[in-house]
Amino acid sequence: MFIVGKDSSKDTRGGVRQRTLKSAIGCTGIGLHCGMRVGMTLHPAEPDTGIVFRRSDIAAKGAVIPALWSHVVDTRLCTVIGNEDRVVVGTVEHLLAAFSGIGIDNAVVEINGPEVPVMDGSAAPFVFLMECAGICEQNARRRILRVHKKVQVREGDKCAVLYPTGGGFSVGCEISFPSRAVARQSHGVTVSPSVFTAEISRARTFGFLEEVAQMRAAGLARGGALDNAIVISGDRILNEEGLRFDNEFVRHKILDAIGDLYLAGRPMIGHFHGYCSGHALNNRLLRTLLADGDAWSEEEMTPADLVPFQRWPEETVLSA
Ligand SMILES: [Zn+2]
Repeated sequence: MFIVGKDSSKDTRGGVRQRTLKSAIGCTGIGLHCGMRVGMTLHPAEPDTGIVFRRSDIAAKGAVIPALWSHVVDTRLCTVIGNEDRVVVGTVEHLLAAFSGIGIDNAVVEINGPEVPVMDGSAAPFVFLMECAGICEQNARRRILRVHKKVQVREGDKCAVLYPTGGGFSVGCEISFPSRAVARQSHGVTVSPSVFTAEISRARTFGFLEEVAQMRAAGLARGGALDNAIVISGDRILNEEGLRFDNEFVRHKILDAIGDLYLAGRPMIGHFHGYCSGHALNNRLLRTLLADGDAWSEEEMTPADLVPFQRWPEETVLSA
């Protein structure tokens, strides 16, 4: 058992350790927007590395991109990160959600194309890969980002908010679409490896058939298909197998938010609430939080931080 509140100076006995993969593991798949076949290998990494992407198809100098909020270069349909040499990796959010959800602090993601493979449109294949590789604790304490005051960003009707809590990381989302296949949905979870794996990781990305032609004309969604996204036409879901959860759409929004918030560079202790928020607003929220020195602190995680705080801010109590 850990003893809370005792100073254990330089060793890691009193704290929570950083985690990485036990061994490297790879997969190949199609990029949702680029339509290219991409190979990706997840490698173990040293303590305090964070999550770092490395493009193996580009000469060594410009090939490294840290998975950080400050490296986000596009958020129109997915989260794209890039570096000063204009080397980019797109659709990082589902992979980052898996790292965050199952608690991996350090990894190098080697990839031979411009986009993370979409796999089945969810984070479940990445969780499976990480579990197959195995996860090990490292000889360094985990550092967290603690939210100290409410921070909010808005864009029209859309809004994203971070609240301080007494512990843990929780995410609630509400969405509303004219299509009756989606309509109004709200859901929330306190994130832990088991909750993430069982309740969130399998929720797939979704799109409207009517928008696919437009997106393709803009050079996007080239790899989109019924085996890697839920496709909606009018009020109908076109996938023959139907949904994995009644409210799979809002669960996927939670998945996206978990991935986008991991671009803080470390686990967060706080509560996120999104109303119709997406990648752009999620990134603006992080930038707004981090620009306000009174709104957060970086500190060592204690075992108490792993205990989820059950009472969420009252104004975020979900309506459905
Ligand atoms: Zn997504």
